[in-house]
Amino acid sequence: MDQQAISKALQQQTVTLPDGTRLPAIGQGTWNIGDDPSRKNQEIAALRRGLELGMTVIDTAEMYGEGKSEQLVGEAIQGKREQVFLVSKAYPQNAGLERIKKACENSLKRLGTDSLDLYLLHWRGRVPLAETVEGMEQLKAEGKIKRWGVSNFDTADMEELWSVPNGSNCATNQVLYHLGSRGIEYDLKDWHKAHSVPIMAYSPLAQGGSLRRELLTNAALKKIADKHHAAPLQIALAWTLRSGNVLAIPKAGQAAHVEANAQAAAIELAPEDLKQLDQAFPGPGHKTPLDII
Ligand code: NAP
Repeated sequence: MDQQAISKALQQQTVTLPDGTRLPAIGQGTWNIGDDPSRKNQEIAALRRGLELGMTVIDTAEMYGEGKSEQLVGEAIQGKREQVFLVSKAYPQNAGLERIKKACENSLKRLGTDSLDLYLLHWRGRVPLAETVEGMEQLKAEGKIKRWGVSNFDTADMEELWSVPNGSNCATNQVLYHLGSRGIEYDLKDWHKAHSVPIMAYSPLAQGGSLRRELLTNAALKKIADKHHAAPLQIALAWTLRSGNVLAIPKAGQAAHVEANAQAAAIELAPEDLKQLDQAFPGPGHKTPLDII
């Protein structure tokens, strides 16, 4: 598939944030990117290839390599900041009113930018939600972040968030979601749809299949992949996008993987494909605790 066709597919497969911003439904994760100096050039090239193709959402966090990932992202997007929808995350212990300002400032410095497009609370800690929301709203008012959201929040957490002042300004919730881990479909995914808040799917490739080997070996998935002249992981990635309310952020430190992931935007799964995938990887029959890495 040529570059133009891939970019077109990414422009067509979008997710809309509550403020109306439309984003390509496949972005780029960066966990472990920046950890190994010998891979630096390859990782920068991979992120830039993703940008070139139109995977403009880049997700990082102060946690990743304790700032090394943000630093590498900063280098990769130098001179290209306006093309990027830049996402970072604060540790829960930095989610208090004062500490969040410092944490954000440090992330901005490492990323070489003066504002984030989206700032997430990485997971819930001891700081009351109302205080974190106030901190996020202040960062927004100061122009340090354009919008904020959360990560690893289950349905009850989202309900609680909606009950605090300005809590419903939350732009997204980033949670683990892949074909082999469908627990959020029990009620969280519907909650998001009902509130018009998209989900960001992390580990959408089950970490290259290592969290669920069947994503590489399952016969039904393999057959569907063959039909689409694709790899099983590309089908798994395309599958995460089927509701139109999920933005997936696969991580790829190699340009060839980035290209394969971008191509997944062009895969149209037929109703019979989805039915067979449901049989091979059934959805949840009951509430399960949120899958978290
Ligand atoms: P993932 O994206 O499911 O999988 C990444 C792994 O898959 C890497 O080993 C990568 O290899 C490989 N890969 C990528 N594309 C591939 C392809 N087309 N074919 C074969 N292998 C491929 O796992 P993840 O990194 O856990 O999740 C993605 C992102 O979500 C993270 O990087 C991070 O930004 C975010 N995340 C957030 C949280 C949270 O708590 N909010 C938790 C986990 C992750 P190469 O790198 O060698 O290309």
